[in-house]
Amino acid sequence: MSPAAAAPPPVRKKLVRRVGSDRSPLLRRVVQAAFFALNLWVGVQFYLFVRFYETGGHSAWASRPPGVEGWLPIASLMNLKVFLLTGRMPTLHPAGMFLLAAFLAISWLLRKSFCSWLCPVGTFSEFLWRVGRQTFGRNFRLPKWLDIPLRGLKYLLLGLFLYAVASMSVPAIRAFLEGPYGVIDDVKMLNFFRFLSVGGAVVLGLLVLASVLLQNFWCRYLCPYGALMGLAALASPLRIRREPERCIDCAKCAKACPSLLPVDRLIAVHSAECTGCLECVAVCPAEGALRMAVGRKRAVPGWAIAAAAGVLFLGICGYARWAGYWHTDLPGRVYFELIPRANEFTHP
Ligand code: SF4
Ligand code: SF4
Repeated sequence: MSPAAAAPPPVRKKLVRRVGSDRSPLLRRVVQAAFFALNLWVGVQFYLFVRFYETGGHSAWASRPPGVEGWLPIASLMNLKVFLLTGRMPTLHPAGMFLLAAFLAISWLLRKSFCSWLCPVGTFSEFLWRVGRQTFGRNFRLPKWLDIPLRGLKYLLLGLFLYAVASMSVPAIRAFLEGPYGVIDDVKMLNFFRFLSVGGAVVLGLLVLASVLLQNFWCRYLCPYGALMGLAALASPLRIRREPERCIDCAKCAKACPSLLPVDRLIAVHSAECTGCLECVAVCPAEGALRMAVGRKRAVPGWAIAAAAGVLFLGICGYARWAGYWHTDLPGRVYFELIPRANEFTHP
């Protein structure tokens, strides 16, 4: 008898179908849209603030939205380092530090869910690959030999930024943040997009094209912020867990995973790439086969992730506001002097 003939036939497990539909993908899209809208509002408000000082006070006045500092991760890391070493709250860009702390707390507790539930770049990236899927009928995949080293790129970029911040002394960080470039680094960032150079436009165009063709191109290969959130998520108490006795091996979960994780072959997803999006859980047809869980048994539904992220975000930012650490309080004359001359200041 040949070995093939001796092997027992594969056992077909009986599907115990799940009752009711999972609304977490819809909830996630609502949260993503709300956070995207919040960022758009911050962007418009900040633009009006810059225009007021650029025009010497001849355009409509708008206050500076502190939320813009969420887009300054390096300054936020610098402030965090100074705070941890000296115990002093930053006076310039303090909101950025609190936003970074909130996003790190969310990623640690809720598995990098900042990336899939809140991050506006992640939302735009998801929109682009869905457009690509509609247009071409699928998203493309890089071969493994290219995918694996490219995935390391974001950690390399993160390492470079962390090294740059770690190697600066507290006085050097203060000198940087209190210099003209540091004071208006948010304006410099806005101007980068307002007056995009040809080179910048080509790079952005290529990123958009790659994001249409490949799922989460920016997040998967290049985003150092996401890499940092992923490292925080490694210590998360939450995991996607699969119950092999209930799983019917249909592989729908792996097919739905935007991070391309082999969910159908794992018992628990430990990867730093898991963003807690719950897409895998939503498509699973088998009752009790797949869930986000604390420990081995306790399931965490989508609404609990959204609620916990909201509490952490509003709680940490609300504390900063209440304690008076939210606003960068600079007199208007500083902005009247620096903003119209923003082009003169380059990265020290
Ligand atoms: S494993 Fe599930 S929750 Fe994690 S990224 Fe993939 S689809 Fe999302
Ligand atoms: S979706 Fe994944 S976990 Fe659910 S039954 Fe299919 S293979 Fe198993």
